[in-house]
Amino acid sequence: MNILVINAGSSSLKYQLIDMTTESILAKGLCERIGINGSNIEQKAGGKLYKKTLPLKNHVEAFGALVDALTDAEYGAVPDLSSIGAAGHRVVHGAEAFTGSVLIDDTVMQALRDNIPLAPLHNPANIMGIEACRAVMPDVPMVAVFDTAFHQTMPRRAYLYGLPYEYYEQYKIRRYGFHGTSHRYVTARAAQLLGRPIEQLKLISCHMGNGSSFAAVEGGRSIDTTMGLTPLEGLIMGTRSGDIDPTVIEMLMTSTGMSLADVMSVLNKRSGLLGLSAGLSSDWRDVKIGAQTGNDAALRAAEVFAYRAKKYIGGYIAAMNGCDAILFTAGIGENDSFARALILKGMEYLGITLDPERNQTREEALISADESRVKVFVVPTNEELAIARDTLALTGTIYTRYHSPAIERSLV
Ligand code: ADP
Repeated sequence: MNILVINAGSSSLKYQLIDMTTESILAKGLCERIGINGSNIEQKAGGKLYKKTLPLKNHVEAFGALVDALTDAEYGAVPDLSSIGAAGHRVVHGAEAFTGSVLIDDTVMQALRDNIPLAPLHNPANIMGIEACRAVMPDVPMVAVFDTAFHQTMPRRAYLYGLPYEYYEQYKIRRYGFHGTSHRYVTARAAQLLGRPIEQLKLISCHMGNGSSFAAVEGGRSIDTTMGLTPLEGLIMGTRSGDIDPTVIEMLMTSTGMSLADVMSVLNKRSGLLGLSAGLSSDWRDVKIGAQTGNDAALRAAEVFAYRAKKYIGGYIAAMNGCDAILFTAGIGENDSFARALILKGMEYLGITLDPERNQTREEALISADESRVKVFVVPTNEELAIARDTLALTGTIYTRYHSPAIERSLV
């Protein structure tokens, strides 16, 4: 069966068509600037590049363009829509309503709308993506896979803020965590690499990209993670501040005259590596080159980035009372030996020693020294494949339910 994986943003739509018999990518594409001048679609399928600039007024039009690209006689991947068995959608915020992936129906759509206040930037875009998919492919079953779902196993000591409890009860203000699909994929893969059941393992998954989060995963369940109510909390990221004292917001407003919206925009878009490097770059590659060639602003950004990361790793080892393996993934985690070495430097006391030569890899590999009590791995993430696997599992259920109506909707 072929599964279409959709990641819809407010003005973009990323997709992959995956053949699940071999788990291979048949086509990979991106619609950009939806609703803006100069909208376009680009797709790679079977080594051929399909590229078109065309008006895409909304997500439904983008979906139409995606279907045209996928079924194009020369550049496409499949002859027609009947070769697409199901669609899996990435949804950012599932709040407390979703502890796993779920078949999309009207009740689910309503729950997604109910969650908009918790993710005002992301969930409306995800909903538009689902509705566009429904409009263009009404007969294709669809699954929602949530960034937050994996972290719903966090105990209350990890997910509550030190705020009046009524705010949690009334407004659901709590820590949720994100990147759950990646943390779940990477920790499951690590268990295979270690040759041990995940139920017996204490793992720290370090997803470091433009957005970064770490997760403490004990027995296959997330028990803590660095992001919170939104993806702003936690680590230093490309442009996000991570943890700060909330009083910073008040001080910035009173000293600069910025509005609350302005300050929030600074914290989300002008902070992190970009802010600490005094505007040099939000891209780790630039920061690293700067740090290695004597640019003090870049070095400062790299130091704060690595120090924050190190403290979270130490904290998670304490939270789990041990750690079998630390896993590095995503753009920085998979590709950058310098970042990994900077973060794990001076952690021998906790049983962590990198092997400098093994650490040079950009592929799946063990990178700790033989004497390291805690193993360290690079484990490339694959969120699209994880979404496709969940979609296959749940649409298999649809097929069964079709023949046996008693079977309830189930969670992966
Ligand atoms: P996103 O969160 O947007 O999915 P990615 O996982 O693609 O982000 O990661 C982007 C980050 O990865 C950037 O900071 C980039 O500099 C870094 N990165 C990508 N490739 C490399 C590389 N070869 N070496 C070092 N850093 C890299």
